[in-house]
Amino acid sequence: MRIVGLTGGIGSGKSTVSNLFKAHGIPVVDADVVARNVLKKGTGGWRKVVAAFGNEILLPSGEVDRPKLGQIVFNDPDKRQLLNRLLAPYISTGILLEVFKLWLKGCKTITLDVPLLFEANMDKWTKPIIVVWVDPQTQLERLMSRDGTTAEEANSRINAQMPLDLKKTKADVVIDNSGSLDDLNERFREALADVKRPLTWAEFGLCR
Ligand code: ATP
Repeated sequence: MRIVGLTGGIGSGKSTVSNLFKAHGIPVVDADVVARNVLKKGTGGWRKVVAAFGNEILLPSGEVDRPKLGQIVFNDPDKRQLLNRLLAPYISTGILLEVFKLWLKGCKTITLDVPLLFEANMDKWTKPIIVVWVDPQTQLERLMSRDGTTAEEANSRINAQMPLDLKKTKADVVIDNSGSLDDLNERFREALADVKRPLTWAEFGLCR
């Protein structure tokens, strides 16, 4: 089974590219969906997070108030690290479970859409690694228009992440999404050739 890694920066176009994979019949495991599931009320991840952050991060329903938790960790790097450390094992197990399910269904190629692929060391599981790159000005404008935020807010979210240019240097394949959606379709088709290229023995398996 080939596991393609898909990552990039905030608002660089990962979800848009992920939809193109699906449209080409290649299933996608979305780390954001898994991350939401591991925080559901009563799960192991939920218990760990409530124990660490207290009941004040809960809604009256008992579910985690995600925007509130997001705000807390955004403003405090130590708490952000703590949250990541608490949830990382649940998220990686959840992702592997989804991969396993697809393997059982006989899927030969799947894509892992993981915004923190490098930060979480999941790049070792995937080949090729595709980074969706966009020029900084376009990234800022798309983020502001999608989320209705100011330039200052969008910039601070961009700057809280590993620089996109650094991710680019770690990629096997870079999809430049600075142009139109038609351009992106074209770049995606080129990248697909890499995805379909047979692995060499040196690349085969999880051998990084
Ligand atoms: P996040 O990291 O926040 O999940 P993302 O990397 O998944 O973001 P998308 O949501 O796919 O990024 O794209 C960000 C925004 O830019 C969306 O509103 C999307 O519709 C738009 N967008 C993506 N690619 C293009 C493009 N080539 N031309 C115009 N708009 C685009």
